[in-house]
Amino acid sequence: MSQILDGRSAVAAETRGASPLHAARHQLREAVDTLGLGDAEYEMLSTPRRELTVSIPLRCDDGTTRTYLGYRVQHNLSRGPAKGGVRFSPAVNLDEVRALAMWMTWKSALLDLPYGGAKGGVAIDPRGHTLGELERVTRRYTSEIAGFIGPDRDIPAPDIGTDERTMAWMMDTFSVGAGHTVLGVVTGKPLELGGSRGRASATSRGLGHVVLAALRDLRLGGGATTAAIQGFGKVGRGLAAFLAEAGVRVIAVSDEDGAVCNDGGIDVTALGEHVDRTGGVAGFALADALPGGELLEMEVTVLVPAAVEGVLTAENAPRVRARLIVEGANGPTTPEADAVFEARGITVVPDILANAGGVLVSYFEWVQGNQSYWWTEDDVERRLRDRMLASWERLLATARSSRRSLRRTATALAVERVADAHRLRGLYP
Ligand code: GLU
Repeated sequence: MSQILDGRSAVAAETRGASPLHAARHQLREAVDTLGLGDAEYEMLSTPRRELTVSIPLRCDDGTTRTYLGYRVQHNLSRGPAKGGVRFSPAVNLDEVRALAMWMTWKSALLDLPYGGAKGGVAIDPRGHTLGELERVTRRYTSEIAGFIGPDRDIPAPDIGTDERTMAWMMDTFSVGAGHTVLGVVTGKPLELGGSRGRASATSRGLGHVVLAALRDLRLGGGATTAAIQGFGKVGRGLAAFLAEAGVRVIAVSDEDGAVCNDGGIDVTALGEHVDRTGGVAGFALADALPGGELLEMEVTVLVPAAVEGVLTAENAPRVRARLIVEGANGPTTPEADAVFEARGITVVPDILANAGGVLVSYFEWVQGNQSYWWTEDDVERRLRDRMLASWERLLATARSSRRSLRRTATALAVERVADAHRLRGLYP
């Protein structure tokens, strides 16, 4: 047995709990078993194709210099260029980026996008830095990974702590190095710079379509449908607006610093204005404060964790009272929590399907940029909805006929596509 396989049980034991890499490897192992593949395939697919760690010295505004660590991991390239976001967060580390890169491979494959999977990150808290400092970090990070990325190699996008401005700096830095404008090197760009209409809201709208379809197909809708959303950033905020508009009562919302609830339904527009004014949901006058952690355990029809990984664990899963969980974040449910939900009959719609609207419209942006032909907002929305719903329907039908969980089915469908691509290409040399 190889070193990696020998190390597997040790790694699994070491990383048990909320570790995203433990979760990602556990899910891959299940998929490999479901598909009847062997240890060799597990070993190959659990090992990132390429990993880069870079140091990013930053000249701060006060004249001092601080050095941060940055990463870019390309998990798989079998189906096309690597694709995935860049995260700026103090919690970023190589194992987290490895897990997130693996999930991107499965997400792209499940949606049948011609991409592999990647992820990047810088271990920095963007809230503690000025715009000028963030621009310098972004540009230095980009120049350090420039030989690794490109429209045909690896295409970054926004994730936690980054946005369209970050993508504009990345695109510019890469383009200056290349000597000409390279629109296709990143997605999630501003509209004025080759971004796609509908990209900013794509993750939340895709998620919204999946929530409504799941409520309908699992017959959980009807009566007063209620939702609790963890996270009020790029994903949670748009989702709250989408669901409220669709007639779902959003009764609880949280962010990093606080949580609020209102059984009669939160006025999402007013909450958005409060957040724009104060920077967070805490203190919103038209709702009550909710103690930390309670949002996940509220009695609601649908719970959407839309913040970070590892929040639903063996510890709190027995107390979750939602009937349906739809994963807006990447990796919010640990394998141990998944087992509890399965035993309790709580359906979990997995991240690699539920939040795929973001990378889907990133793909649309890349296609439009490659063709220099721009679609209307209606074109983007229609294609987003159709593709998300088709992927959901296929996943649900496959899970029902195989009597397996949605997570296990989704990962197996994705891993099968990647393994098929690899088999058809053959092993070089
Ligand atoms: N960061 C998003 C995700 O986790 C989008 C990635 C992309 O558009 O490439 O899916």
